[in-house]
Amino acid sequence: MKAAVWYAKEDIRVEYIDEPVVRPGKVKVKIAWTGICGSDLHAYHGHVVQVNEPHPVSGEMAPLTLGHESSGFIVEVGEGVTGFTAGDRVAIEPMLRCGKCQSCKDGNPNLCDHIGFIGLHGNGTFAEYAIVDPYMLHKLPDHIEMDEAALIEPTAVAFHAVKLSQQKVGDKVAVFGAGPIGLLTIISAKAAGASQIIAVDISSERLALAAKVGATAVIDATKEDAVQSILANTGGVDVAYEAAGAASTVNNALASLRKQGEVVIVSIIPNPIAIDINPLTIKEAKMTATIGYRNVYPQVIDMIASGTMNVKQIITKKIPLDKIVEEGFQTLITDKAQAKILVELQA
Ligand SMILES: [Zn+2]
Ligand SMILES: [Zn+2]
Repeated sequence: MKAAVWYAKEDIRVEYIDEPVVRPGKVKVKIAWTGICGSDLHAYHGHVVQVNEPHPVSGEMAPLTLGHESSGFIVEVGEGVTGFTAGDRVAIEPMLRCGKCQSCKDGNPNLCDHIGFIGLHGNGTFAEYAIVDPYMLHKLPDHIEMDEAALIEPTAVAFHAVKLSQQKVGDKVAVFGAGPIGLLTIISAKAAGASQIIAVDISSERLALAAKVGATAVIDATKEDAVQSILANTGGVDVAYEAAGAASTVNNALASLRKQGEVVIVSIIPNPIAIDINPLTIKEAKMTATIGYRNVYPQVIDMIASGTMNVKQIITKKIPLDKIVEEGFQTLITDKAQAKILVELQA
């Protein structure tokens, strides 16, 4: 079968590899669509991928098939697996969990001591077929199409952030960063009943998309002072979601809060940054962070199926697997007008 395999930094090859064989306790899925994620771009640049030793849960290491935001059809069910049959339409929850550490026992698999993702720490879904654990599979209702089902995974990230925030119905919020996660945060905050949603970014195309998916106001930070504008228009937001991952946006998020407001760090900021803590202190504000998601797939699926969340709007491009490097990774790096690019894997 054809797959996009990560060998090394900037060395991702679309090549033929052996079709995987189902094992007892596992399920074989024919992949329909897989989205390209920011972490795939990190992988392209040489970070995050499991190298040197096998991941403790997947038992796999590079060269690895990338891809983790996916939908597909079950083709074969391994011995001992119940509840699934060939032909089921599914979304894949790609998080690896050990099942044994305290976080796993507490029902917080996203905090697992051995957290990982298929597609980064085990073979993923930029391939015609994937072998996965049954706990990763969620059956899809008829109202969800296969392409939008590939958006359930990144939506779960944003949804989890909003769910864990102190946002209440009627609250005013700001979202810093209008990339895919920022856009999905806007959609989730709207679903949670925000009365005002102010999107901040430096790309006019992304801001146009932010307005389309539900932002009530947009601020181009290259043209106006985001903090002044937010304070002038809202008196300070109840919650500021940080989905841009820069020192300036974290600081601006803090400065945009009302008294006792909350900044939620949704982005992953791998390197230390300088933060002015004074606004936090003076406002008795909170700064929290979320990572991945847990136990939200069924809710996200229901809310997409019912039309409460229209996530399909963030798809800006669809490409075949053969074009994944040039028209996928390269395009996302150079063209900031892009949001979510989906790769089609079904024949
Ligand atoms: Zn992702
Ligand atoms: Zn664990």
